[in-house]
Amino acid sequence: MINGERTIERPLRWGMIGGGRTGQVGYKHRTGALRDGTYQLIAGAFDLDAERGRDFGTKLGVADDRCYATYQDLIAGEAGREDGVEVVSIATPNFTHFEITKACLEAGLHVICEKPLFFTVAECDEVAALAASKGLIVGVTYGFTGHPLVHQMAAMVAKGMLGEIRIVDMAYTHGFNSGDDDSADAVKWRTNPKTAGPTFVLGDIGTHLYYLSEVVLPHLKVAKLLCDRTAFIPSRAPLEDHATVLMHYDNGARGRLWVSSVDAGNMGSQRYRFVGSKASVAWSDTHPDQLVYQVQGEPERILHHGMPYLEDESLACDRMGALHTEGLGDSWANIYLWIAEAIDAAERDDEAFLKNHHYPGIAAGTEGVRWLETCVRSADAGSAWVDFE
Ligand code: NAD
Repeated sequence: MINGERTIERPLRWGMIGGGRTGQVGYKHRTGALRDGTYQLIAGAFDLDAERGRDFGTKLGVADDRCYATYQDLIAGEAGREDGVEVVSIATPNFTHFEITKACLEAGLHVICEKPLFFTVAECDEVAALAASKGLIVGVTYGFTGHPLVHQMAAMVAKGMLGEIRIVDMAYTHGFNSGDDDSADAVKWRTNPKTAGPTFVLGDIGTHLYYLSEVVLPHLKVAKLLCDRTAFIPSRAPLEDHATVLMHYDNGARGRLWVSSVDAGNMGSQRYRFVGSKASVAWSDTHPDQLVYQVQGEPERILHHGMPYLEDESLACDRMGALHTEGLGDSWANIYLWIAEAIDAAERDDEAFLKNHHYPGIAAGTEGVRWLETCVRSADAGSAWVDFE
């Protein structure tokens, strides 16, 4: 169980780029990072609007002279200080991730970046090489994968409780873009290939599904996939507001995934079902405290987070204890904690720790981008089956 005791020697000096007052995801970063005393927010370039960013930053408790107008100013201003930032989170629109990540790494800073990480696998490879050459960590905020019951599913699969995995069924859908008004800032950049990248909903929400399935099924690899994508609101083309992906895994398992932002009225968010030859598990982030466990021929069981009957891997990342709600903020806190532990180990050159430590890093970010590239390749070929390379 995690109870806030420090697992690293001292808090990391932390800065944020983006995630300002109007940003959708900024608070999730802060709620995750500031939970366990492993990060101290001491600088930021929070907003494209420099004045609003400064006002916001000071209200978060950041010193006025460390609320910078641009990320370049932040890097330059902090580089000259003994107590300068050592890790920076990037919570800005997709098209800025690559440029800002590179600049931060070149300045010797660890990076925690939003998904989808970059536009291309080539960019991911370049950044991976740069980070490795400098001994720096790149974490990726797949914020839903810190839920204890996600790790319960992974442990049950690893123990063979489901049998051989046959069917993977995943969905992340909502209806917030059912209408054609794309004028809000956060929608405008998401529906333009120049600022979103090669996909809209596949990258925006599909990468969460794909990464979580990798956490639960680390032994399975996608062998080939077929992607069908469309824009129900024509002005969004060539990007998609709806997509279906079929996947064949290397063990013969079949996967089905759909993502949509035009699923009018749906508030179900993410749903997962992993089916094996003996049993299945189903989990949704709408009810993250509960896991449905169904064994063929037996009554259905609902497993609750924090209960002693769960696997050690799940109990190890529980925070609230059984009976009390464990939610998205707790999941983000786990992700930030695991990344802090990776940064601390990198600083101590503790290769042995890093080898066995699980957190969403550059490899996970790269896999997400590889999956997106493959989806686009399939869709552009008329929804053909393509090898996952
Ligand atoms: P948003 O448009 O709501 O907010 C972007 C924020 O970044 C704003 O505060 C804006 O002023 C600031 N900004 C933009 N460019 C900047 C720059 N060059 N320097 C400094 N600040 C800058 O976007 P959002 O929905 O918060 O998404 C941001 C990123 O987070 C995207 O990559 C998105 O895919 C990702 N995201 C991830 C999750 C998750 O669960 N992990 C959830 C939502 C969004």
